[in-house]
Amino acid sequence: MRILQLELDAPADDVLTEATRALAGDGKVTRCRTAKSALRHLTAATDQFDLALLSGDEADTLLAAYAALAASGRLPPTLVLSATSSVETAVSLLKAGADDFIVRDAAGQWTARLADEAAALHQRRRVLIEREQLDAELRESERRLAQIVDGSSVAMFVIDRQHHVTHWNRACEAMTGIAAEDIIGSCDQWRAFYAKKRPCMADLVLDGAIESRLNRYYGDKGYRRSTLIPGSYEAEDFFPSFGDNGCWLFFTAAPLHDSGGHLVGAIETLQDITAQKRAKEALGANETLLRQIIQCSSVATFVIDREHRITHWNRAAELLLGRTADSAIGARNLAHDVYRQERPVLADLVLDGAGDEEIARYYDGRYRKSAAIDGVFEVEDFFPELPGGPRWLHFAAAPLHDAGGQTIGAIETLQDISERKAAEERMQESERQLAQIIDGSAVAAFVIDQAHRVTHWNRACAALTGVPASEVLGTRQQWRAFYPTERPCLADLVVDGAVEEKLSRYYVNKQFHRSQIVEGGYEAQDFFANFGNSGRWLYFTAAPLRNAQGAVVGAIETLQDITEQKRAEENLRQSEERYRVLSITDGMTGLYNARHFAQRLREEMDRCQRYQHPLALMVMDVDDFKRFNDTHGHVQGDQVLIRLADCITACLRRTDQAFRYGGEEFVVLLPETEMSEAEAAAERVRAMFAGSEITPGDSAVVHCTASIGVTIFVPGETPRDFVARADSGTYEAKRRGKNRVIRITPGMGNIVD
Ligand code: GH3
Ligand code: MG
Ligand code: MG
Repeated sequence: MRILQLELDAPADDVLTEATRALAGDGKVTRCRTAKSALRHLTAATDQFDLALLSGDEADTLLAAYAALAASGRLPPTLVLSATSSVETAVSLLKAGADDFIVRDAAGQWTARLADEAAALHQRRRVLIEREQLDAELRESERRLAQIVDGSSVAMFVIDRQHHVTHWNRACEAMTGIAAEDIIGSCDQWRAFYAKKRPCMADLVLDGAIESRLNRYYGDKGYRRSTLIPGSYEAEDFFPSFGDNGCWLFFTAAPLHDSGGHLVGAIETLQDITAQKRAKEALGANETLLRQIIQCSSVATFVIDREHRITHWNRAAELLLGRTADSAIGARNLAHDVYRQERPVLADLVLDGAGDEEIARYYDGRYRKSAAIDGVFEVEDFFPELPGGPRWLHFAAAPLHDAGGQTIGAIETLQDISERKAAEERMQESERQLAQIIDGSAVAAFVIDQAHRVTHWNRACAALTGVPASEVLGTRQQWRAFYPTERPCLADLVVDGAVEEKLSRYYVNKQFHRSQIVEGGYEAQDFFANFGNSGRWLYFTAAPLRNAQGAVVGAIETLQDITEQKRAEENLRQSEERYRVLSITDGMTGLYNARHFAQRLREEMDRCQRYQHPLALMVMDVDDFKRFNDTHGHVQGDQVLIRLADCITACLRRTDQAFRYGGEEFVVLLPETEMSEAEAAAERVRAMFAGSEITPGDSAVVHCTASIGVTIFVPGETPRDFVARADSGTYEAKRRGKNRVIRITPGMGNIVD
């Protein structure tokens, strides 16, 4: 012990000196005679005293010295010793702060008391100081804790050893809706979170959480020991009463210890992780959905991540590429399966944002860029060494982006198109065959597709039209081979679903008809003035070409040169006409014959009756013809008949028709003619015939005459009555001396003119 000894009034006697030394033990005793020098020792930084002894006999001197030393603030526990001082002095000094006052006993001994008092004093002091220190530390840590707790944006509360809430910060108030003042001091922390009383995580931690208890309360919440703080735990749980739709909380509880390592409480922090939870759940749901979509797709599909590792590999991919999802997922060297070499697959290239040039390096001529989606490529390629045998595959790869537009992977789909390819090849083969058939045909033919483009133009067609296939194939110029200006051919009309109205526009005089053989087909004929030397007649047929579903996908048109046939037909028609004319013509006079008269008479009578138009008839007979024949011969008689026919023809209108009715009898039908006009016409004929000179012999001139009866038609009467009436006119003319015209007006009997 180090002792500062101030000996006022008189130096310490031997007994005191000895006692002090004994008290100091190994320590040092610093002896001073004045308060001033003692003060210097006290304030010197190097001197630290455990005890101060103040001895003197004068009460005033002792008090003054004590006050001066105490004022330094560095006075250790102080004992005042006095041999003479009164009780009043002792009380004054103790009041001033001195720790004890020892008066020398009657025996003049105080050594024992000195030692005892000093020891007790020292003990008291130490306890006091320790308590003060502890209090200060506690206050400080309390303050710090309160600051931490209250200032934190993380909801937290603290409980003490007795589970009373000591802190309940503002974030906790906001989260639980319970004010700090309502809960601090209580053990109701459970109320903020649960409907029934139960321990919170902090309570469990405070009680020295044992797994069995944690399991009971958080068994299904996935609680875990915190890796940061020994003895602390964390868990998450859903609290349906928080917020609008409940709240996910992540909470941690840690024990609090005092400086001695004793458990004094626990702190629990709570974090609202609803947003993260929901996002994670959504992500999980999306991922599940994506997995299902991919898995259930019948199209082989796989996905690679940013590191080109396979993350998804569906059943169809397993089957097509002969690799299980287990072995594929996580792998990166997929190319070897399909290409038997190390190289990127399409998804890898797409993931790396490869452009045309790069893609072309691996898939030259076999890839196509998606017109719809940027960065998407499609390829058709043949794989001779796939696990399932050689295959044609169509595959497409697209980059995958996150919400921020970052590329996070790529998806590739693969379809086995071997069958389609085989069908295509079969089709190409049949196409080739068709082309050969068409080309080999002697019948000129061409084919157009749905878009009216020429797909076939055979040799016969080229020969017929003079237009080579090379000029029209792939074009819509088929019309050029046939017409001077653009117009549809029959095949074009058939492709468009020919309607009769349109056909009749292009094939005048209805020179077309529906095909008897092919539904939707048509046949037509036309004259093409440009073909050959003097034009050609073509007979052409057009039939629709249909796909398997029956839709029209084109048309075939065949063309036949029917010029010769046409010519033969024309000849036939002409000879038929000739024959017809002959059959109704009198060979000698060139007039119509009697048979034709019967037909024409009926027709004119019908017409007259229908339209109430007049119709006149004249009947004439050569006079004394028997005699002429007898005189000049039959041949000369014929010439007379020819002469009369000429006279009739010369005197009649174009619409009048003359017939040789019998040997030397003639009739004339005069449509639209009244009696007077007919009579005048008859008179012209009579006069002309009578005036014409006939030279049957070498020199003699002879005149012949004819008698003519005229009448008009009475609607309703028979042809026989009509002719008989005219005939009666002729008879009357003979009777009256011949060479005259007699008209018979119907219903008035035989009126003699
Ligand atoms: P009418 O004045 O009374 O008529 O006396 P007609 O001699 O003419 O008597 P009718 O009419 O009875 O005589 C008809 C004669 O006409 C009889 C016949 O020889 C003659 N004939 C009839 N057809 C032809 C013919 O084609 N050529 C010639 N040359 N004579 C004919
Ligand atoms: Mg006669
Ligand atoms: Mg006669």
